[in-house]
Amino acid sequence: MSVNLQTPIDYLKGVGSSRADLLRKELGIFTYQDLINLFPNRYIDRTRYYKINELQQNNADVQVIGKITSFKEVAQKRGKRLVATFQDDTGTMELVWFRGQKWIRDSLILNKKYVAFGKCNAFGNKFSMAHPEMELQEEHEKNLRSAMQPIYPSTEKLGNRGISNRVISKIMQQLFIETGGRFAESLSDNLRSELKLISKQSALFNVHFPKSPELLARAQFRLKFEELFYIQLQLIIKNLIHKSKIKGLPFDKVGNYFNTFFKEQLPFELTGAQKRVLKEIRADLGSNAQMNRLLQGDVGSGKTIVAFMSMLMALDNGFQACLMAPTEILSVQHYNGLLELSKKLNISISILTGSTKTSERRKIHEALENGELQILIGTHALLEDKVKFHNLGLAIIDEQHRFGVAQRSKLWRKGPTSPPQSSRSASSIPPHVLVMTATPIPRTLAMSVYGDLDISIIDELPPGRKAIKTVHRFDKNRLNVFRFVRDEIDKARQIYIVYPLIQESEKMDYKDLMDGYESIARDFPMPKYQISIVHGQMKPADKEFEMQRFIKGETQIMVATTVIEVGVNVPNASVMIIESAERFGLSQLHQLRGRVGRGAEQSYCILMTGHKLSADSKTRMETMVRTNDGFEIAEVDLRLRGPGDIMGTQQSGVLNLKIADIIKDNNILQHARLHAKNILKIDPTLSLPENQVILNTYKQLTKFKNIWNYIS
Ligand code: ADP
Ligand code: MG
Repeated sequence: MSVNLQTPIDYLKGVGSSRADLLRKELGIFTYQDLINLFPNRYIDRTRYYKINELQQNNADVQVIGKITSFKEVAQKRGKRLVATFQDDTGTMELVWFRGQKWIRDSLILNKKYVAFGKCNAFGNKFSMAHPEMELQEEHEKNLRSAMQPIYPSTEKLGNRGISNRVISKIMQQLFIETGGRFAESLSDNLRSELKLISKQSALFNVHFPKSPELLARAQFRLKFEELFYIQLQLIIKNLIHKSKIKGLPFDKVGNYFNTFFKEQLPFELTGAQKRVLKEIRADLGSNAQMNRLLQGDVGSGKTIVAFMSMLMALDNGFQACLMAPTEILSVQHYNGLLELSKKLNISISILTGSTKTSERRKIHEALENGELQILIGTHALLEDKVKFHNLGLAIIDEQHRFGVAQRSKLWRKGPTSPPQSSRSASSIPPHVLVMTATPIPRTLAMSVYGDLDISIIDELPPGRKAIKTVHRFDKNRLNVFRFVRDEIDKARQIYIVYPLIQESEKMDYKDLMDGYESIARDFPMPKYQISIVHGQMKPADKEFEMQRFIKGETQIMVATTVIEVGVNVPNASVMIIESAERFGLSQLHQLRGRVGRGAEQSYCILMTGHKLSADSKTRMETMVRTNDGFEIAEVDLRLRGPGDIMGTQQSGVLNLKIADIIKDNNILQHARLHAKNILKIDPTLSLPENQVILNTYKQLTKFKNIWNYIS
């Protein structure tokens, strides 16, 4: 009889309702299937026994045979701990319990041989093991031992409630007994033979009960491949469906605006990367599908002109375009930048932000609706319902990580609506969407997070840029740093000094900023020096005023919080000083540094920190000093923080991988993506007989979401 793998876990012998509850709550295990997919984190050697004098201070799991010679209770801050002296013929160590002490004391027998198993720690010259798994040696010997015993994911609660690793192993065994270990194959024969993958059945067996290190490795490879393969398959299918279903506005021609600008008005020669990306965008806009493209390019790589020229394509086809930026400052800057670029083109551009006056606002709304206004730039204000376009053809979002998915889709709905008389199609066609970001996402992650977007990358900086020199200085070197700042100001350069602003301690940060400002004002006195200050608690108009003073060169120093992080462009600024740099994440540091190095002069970034740094902070500082490459920095960031904290990953499934590791298994991921692509290229509907296994598995996966929580 075949067992249905969707059977609730309660039905498994040895589980019962209270354990089932715990498994559901703590590990998300609802069914037999979920249990099979609970993969071990690691394996340990249970054929090896350590003598007490062989123990090392490496906190590894070990097993030691010995006798408990005595118990004592030791008072501590809260409650007490139970400590047993554990002895073998080479020495003594301690076993420690912080909970369940009465039960431990009653159940363990003095002077009988036990195998103690757990993590070993050294305190002073004594080794100890907290909450070891204890088994009488005579019991222990009855069980088979493996050189690769799986250690399953666990939680504190599971441990406290008696569901130890041993218990999990037992119920896993039970599951294999009840099912006969027969599991349906889930990859096609073609794939298996091409990649020399072992069968599903053998893989599952060997991942839970490895027969040999070789088989374990092959089992893991097969299961990782499978997991990544189906995720990629799903993403690619989503993208294909999008392209075939979502009609796009036809941008048939490259017209006058674009050609005139390109032939006569380009302020500089485009880089190869800019040209390539423009071609990719052009191809999208000319196809029948809606463009949904992510443009990644490091700070200063020149995304703005790509955005502008894409807008010209929209205008040439009689459509409007808009550009949304996360802050007012950035919107104003884009507005000025685009005015400059378009000054000989005779097109109408306006800006709409929270501080646009009502009368002006009304004019904009009107011109937008009757089509006189061709390009609108602005902040979230663009998303308001009152903002109605005549025929929006292209929506560009700058620094998209500041916006949520909901906002992206709100822009979608601003596409042109057909005139009411043709009631047949009163629904709107979404505008083409181009999302730009300067926060590079490692390629591998981008594949998984933005798998439904097409990706363009500007991986080349405009020529003639001098690499920014980055140094790390401790607070006690401040005098030297200030001397350097004076020299730079004497050379007519401008300086940023940035303070961290972290939401939870906003008041304290504000105080830091003000203290910093005062001390800088003392060291750089008026009238020789003029200082601007910009922070989040200022009115937009005041911010703008201070910003403009700096842009015009009326002030030499800009003291600011991270509001200037995004996009601000002052080419004459050559020094970026980041205070308490240890409090910033890598991507933020990189963003901030990108504010300088925009002119022809040598630029500098100075990371100021306190003396004591955590290991991670040190790595961050070293990485910043070593490289200017945003993608490399993103990779380090990913390694330090894990995918969980990288922008945009939260909603995606990359966190819920059961066995593959998005970073370590990068290679397998590339393979999986390639194979998924190739299969769909030949057989987009997966209807060939040889792909039936894949189709069925895919259907199952989308049906029972709890198998891989990936399906969104
Ligand atoms: P980002 O990608 O950070 O938005 P910008 O579009 O603001 O970068 O461009 C940064 C600076 O580089 C701007 O001053 C812009 O005029 C200039 N720039 C862009 N592309 C080129 C190029 N191909 N050659 C020379 N300068 C360029
Ligand atoms: Mg920009």
